Amino acid sequence: MSTKDKASKEASGATGRFTRRGFLYTAAAGTAALAFPGCQKSEKPILTTLTGEFDPLRSYPYRGWEDFYRKMWTWDKVVRSTHSANCTGSCSWKVYVRNGVIVREEQAADYPRISKDLPDYNPRGCQKGGCFAEYVYSPQRLRYPLIRTGARGEGKWRRATWDEALNLIAEKLLDNIYNHGPDTNAFFSVIPAMSPVSFCAGSRLANYLGGVMCSFYDWYCDLPPGEPLTWGVQTEACECADWFNSKYIILWGSNISQTRIPDAHFAYEARYNGAKIVAISPDFNSSCIHADLYWRIHPGSDGALALGVARLLIENNLIDRPYIKEQTDLPLLVLKGTKRFLRESDLQKGGKDDVFFVWDSTKNRVAATPGSMGSADKTIRWDDVDPALEGTYTVQLADGNMAEVVPVFAQLRTTLAAYPLEKVSQLTGLPAHEIQSFAHELGTRKPAMIIHGAGTNHWFHNDLTNRAMILLVALTGNIGKNGGGFNHYVGQERVWPEHGFFELAFPEGRKKQRFQNTTLWSYVHSASKDPHLYNGKSVEWYIQESVKNGWMPLWPALREGETPKTGRKPRAFIVWRANYLNQAKGNEIIENSLWRDLDLIVDINYRMDTTALYSDVVLPASSYYEKVDLNSTDCHSYMHTFGKAVEPLFESKTDWDIFHALAQKISEVAKQKGLKPFHDELFKWDRDFTSLQDHWTGGGTVVTDEQAVDFILSHSKETEGMTYRNLQEHPKRFVATDPESWNSDVEEGIAYTPFKHQLEKKVPWRTLTGRQQFYIDHPWFIELNEELPAYKEPVQEKYPLYWNTPHGRWSIHSTWRDHRAMLRLQRGGPIVYMHPDEARKRNLRDNDWVRIYNEIGHCICRVQIMPGEKPGRVTMYHGWEKFLGFQQGGWQSLTYIKIKPTQLIGKYGHVNFRLNYWGPTGNNRDIKVEVEKYNGPLVHGTPAKA
Ligand code: SF4
Repeated sequence: MSTKDKASKEASGATGRFTRRGFLYTAAAGTAALAFPGCQKSEKPILTTLTGEFDPLRSYPYRGWEDFYRKMWTWDKVVRSTHSANCTGSCSWKVYVRNGVIVREEQAADYPRISKDLPDYNPRGCQKGGCFAEYVYSPQRLRYPLIRTGARGEGKWRRATWDEALNLIAEKLLDNIYNHGPDTNAFFSVIPAMSPVSFCAGSRLANYLGGVMCSFYDWYCDLPPGEPLTWGVQTEACECADWFNSKYIILWGSNISQTRIPDAHFAYEARYNGAKIVAISPDFNSSCIHADLYWRIHPGSDGALALGVARLLIENNLIDRPYIKEQTDLPLLVLKGTKRFLRESDLQKGGKDDVFFVWDSTKNRVAATPGSMGSADKTIRWDDVDPALEGTYTVQLADGNMAEVVPVFAQLRTTLAAYPLEKVSQLTGLPAHEIQSFAHELGTRKPAMIIHGAGTNHWFHNDLTNRAMILLVALTGNIGKNGGGFNHYVGQERVWPEHGFFELAFPEGRKKQRFQNTTLWSYVHSASKDPHLYNGKSVEWYIQESVKNGWMPLWPALREGETPKTGRKPRAFIVWRANYLNQAKGNEIIENSLWRDLDLIVDINYRMDTTALYSDVVLPASSYYEKVDLNSTDCHSYMHTFGKAVEPLFESKTDWDIFHALAQKISEVAKQKGLKPFHDELFKWDRDFTSLQDHWTGGGTVVTDEQAVDFILSHSKETEGMTYRNLQEHPKRFVATDPESWNSDVEEGIAYTPFKHQLEKKVPWRTLTGRQQFYIDHPWFIELNEELPAYKEPVQEKYPLYWNTPHGRWSIHSTWRDHRAMLRLQRGGPIVYMHPDEARKRNLRDNDWVRIYNEIGHCICRVQIMPGEKPGRVTMYHGWEKFLGFQQGGWQSLTYIKIKPTQLIGKYGHVNFRLNYWGPTGNNRDIKVEVEKYNGPLVHGTPAKA
């Protein structure tokens, strides 16, 4: 039977019925025949049309594309690499290269499994990482050194040679050192863990030049200040595989579906392991859809909820008393009169200030607390002592007077009395009965954890809210256990191989380095003005006191008679791996003061971002796929590498090579000018810049970035046995932790979680009292009623809508904000999300142009109506570049720097300034705005809809 006959028969069916299969067969055959001109159905059988003498494909002249298509999936080499945008992902990727061109990326999916009882980390990635290659060849890519010819931000540049650009920078840096002081040169870079070699390249130079190394983690408000206060650490969190071990996961201000894309599955899979998920967020976001309980909390009321729940836990005896007695300061005695801890110095002349006491209920007398900073006992274990949690006791002081003392726990009860259920319900907008059942579940489902994020951390009273949340998981005995704890993830701040990193970053030692909290630096050196008074005193007063007491450093250093606002100004600012100006609160205020006053701004970057656009000199850096470096994160326990898939494109160089070249140029200039060594009195250091290059390269030991990688690996316990070469094979799990800086071991087959040393080995916590310290008896804390966690309302502004600028799905901060593929997944420009009720009140329709304003500034963009948004708030996902679709202003035009006095303290036991560890945070949530329709002229974009 011919094909035609067969088709005809199939179409009608054996019984003459018309079948679907037959119809498709005939239709396809007919269509194929009619598709070729000159071929009549009656002249040729249908299928020979495609293979016979009239075959149109054979005679088709353009055959080259077919080969291209077939070769699309071929490659010459595959190189392992990753991305360093501070996403916390730290995902291993394969980069495919053909003829020297990156053709595609693929998730490597080769993390060794921790245990068969845990979901693994494979494959790991997100949509942004999957299109990074386009950035490598994008129009935004910086190709050559540029020197500004127009005004800052105007976009007028001329191409320069490396020699010219480096010469200009070297001359200026040296001129500043000799004529204005080394502390007028400031350096800013972020997140060492995401590419430590790149970070070290510049910090190393700052170390040798005597320059100021500025912080980032506190400035971006990613630092949870409650952790240094309560635990004496920067940030400690479990790796994300440990989420699977939890039976109760509270997503509190953390939208993991959007901001922890590679890891969200661990939480959602934990539900198969018996976990319940609670999501607490003002908006119904993409993580909330996975929750068993969703709470649409009033913005900024999280602290009230935590304290209300703490009260319920205690009232209903849902607390772990043995844990509290051993692991926290809640049994420690406080003098009722002064509100200060009872110290050895109170009880005996010449006694220590850092030895504390509890009331031993078995012997009915005070007993010294082991494990505090001044204690000879290096354990927190109680031997023959049963510390009381309740009651009032009388002690005789060294001066003979009697004084009443109470345990911190009793004080806490008094504080918590201010948070009855009805009040908490009203403050938070949550049903009272749900708060009660939440408290019951938190107290009974073990282990329980809080996954914490910027949603709650970016508020002014972030320290109080952190402390209140930590209290919940401490009262229930969940900290130091797999599947439990308070786990904060905002940024990739922690460097696992810390020792090697610090050796490379600050080769002459951290004691010989000028460090600076950037929030304070930006505030003092700009026209920023925080109008709030605290106990009748201005922020300026608190700053002055803090600097005078040596609690917070301020560079340039104050000279005789100078105040922070009248002292010397910074003169040069070197930015690399960062977008300072995009993140600067009160953007125009900074631009018109601090920024304007700088003589030289250098930006080292692979793409033209806001900071680069507003700089004087731009140096082209190689992208993520053109360099050698390391990458690690809090979210997993592996080290892996960046590999050079292609050589640095155009005239770009790796950060390591750029700073090496700059060190070399400074040596040359110093020699040409015959500069004598500069005597740096602060460190008693004669800095000989003619030999800077030799110092910077470690006498020739760390000339290349691969050598720098191996230096870090070989100088750290965590990475013993690892090298750049063997890490290129696949990521490797850390082999150990350095007890100097870590609080748990890396255990075979077990997900990493912190504070096991404290719980299992009874090692003292890194605090003044040696325990999780909820009571801070620093005078400023007592004066401001913050000695214990408390709820304080957000700093109110007069406008009706909270200005919410969270991390989003389509970018990592400003990176990928300008990426073509990501823009096409949104509306192509800045959008503010608004609840329909708020839009109706303002007569706004979806996609209208709107002006968002307050007393600080304004911006103009489009509005998107979003039922999931909370009334009383508007949201703009952060990081939009100023030049990217705003008609005017930007997302930081509405914010300003607000300094919290208690975050300026220092020299209090464990609370001391340390870079990215303790210092005022650049919070930006307590801001309110109004939104109105914008009908004015448009600079770019399309007019608003009628
Ligand atoms: S951008 Fe971050 S989360 Fe996304 S794939 Fe890269 S490393 Fe992973």
